[in-house]
Amino acid sequence: MITLDGSAGEGGGQVLRTALALSMVTGQPFVIERIRAKREKPGLARQHLTAVLAAAEISVARVEGAELGSMRLAFRPGPVQPGNYRFAIGTAGSTTLVLQTVLPALWSASGPASVELVGGTHNPLAPSFDFLDHAFAPAVRAMGAPLQLTMRTAGFYPAGGGQLRAETSPAHWRPTERLTVGAPIVHARVLLSQIPSHVAQREQRVLSERLGIPLDAVRIVEDCSPGPGNAVVVVLTFADGGEVVTVLGERRVTAEEVAHRAADEAIALRTAAVPVGEYLADQLLLPMALAGGGAFRTVEPTLHTRTNAEVIERFLPVQFTLAADDEKAWRVSVQPRA
Ligand code: ATP
Repeated sequence: MITLDGSAGEGGGQVLRTALALSMVTGQPFVIERIRAKREKPGLARQHLTAVLAAAEISVARVEGAELGSMRLAFRPGPVQPGNYRFAIGTAGSTTLVLQTVLPALWSASGPASVELVGGTHNPLAPSFDFLDHAFAPAVRAMGAPLQLTMRTAGFYPAGGGQLRAETSPAHWRPTERLTVGAPIVHARVLLSQIPSHVAQREQRVLSERLGIPLDAVRIVEDCSPGPGNAVVVVLTFADGGEVVTVLGERRVTAEEVAHRAADEAIALRTAAVPVGEYLADQLLLPMALAGGGAFRTVEPTLHTRTNAEVIERFLPVQFTLAADDEKAWRVSVQPRA
């Protein structure tokens, strides 16, 4: 039984989600103590509990501690079952984070699977649907892991109600390298729900000016959610993958400011001249480890990335190397452990 300290390193929900994912893939049971101990509301929040219950259903697992607020969980997986699943978070909790928990298991299953998730699709501090669709999915497909995504409805905090659907089939893993970066094709999307149209139009104008792209390269999608919300998404498409910046509209922050924040982040990513940004970096580690090798260049690794590498090394016979390439760029690679 693998024992994990949920408060070590970054100490957030990702430690739990990575453990669930790799427990299902490898069949190794685990216990995690002190789940999210340093967070303001420690233990399992609704999003984490949904991830646990989804993992349990997909792998017919025996579970102890699957309750809201629980700080200890024991998880003993059975064989992963392909099929069609539906999980509702019940709040605006992130559907993308729940999906990322179950994807590795579904890629290791014996047949195709689909997952429908209901909750938030554009949440603070989580990958947006657009990030998954244009950055994460192309990267894993290149590694041999099929993933098709559709969003029927967006879900924003606090109303939620977003609907995301994923289709997968068994992976045929192969290592990939993303070390260089060419000039990207840039386009953007403004999502708007139950908020006056002029907000989207003002964001569109700023994005077009700041990113140097025509107005019609910034698509406005209105009436996309059951609750109010606004998200500005910038997509950078490179020859071998993509990167995505998402900034959410907030009360008391002007439309112009939201669009400027997104433009600043997109320009910073381009100026960094690395193919993988800080968020995609921590999310690529797990698929790369399953592929048994691979490398990418990125910005200085975050604590999320370092902690995720450590958790993955507890479950799989791999070793990560995180090394500074030069002043600005780092190289992250994984290889089988000797
Ligand atoms: P916590 O325990 O801190 O409440 P959590 O379960 O909500 O955490 P984390 O463990 O912090 O989540 O993991 C968040 C994940 O969301 C990470 O993989 C990170 O890369 C990703 N993420 C955060 N912000 C963005 C963003 N703007 N774009 C894409 N991905 C993001």
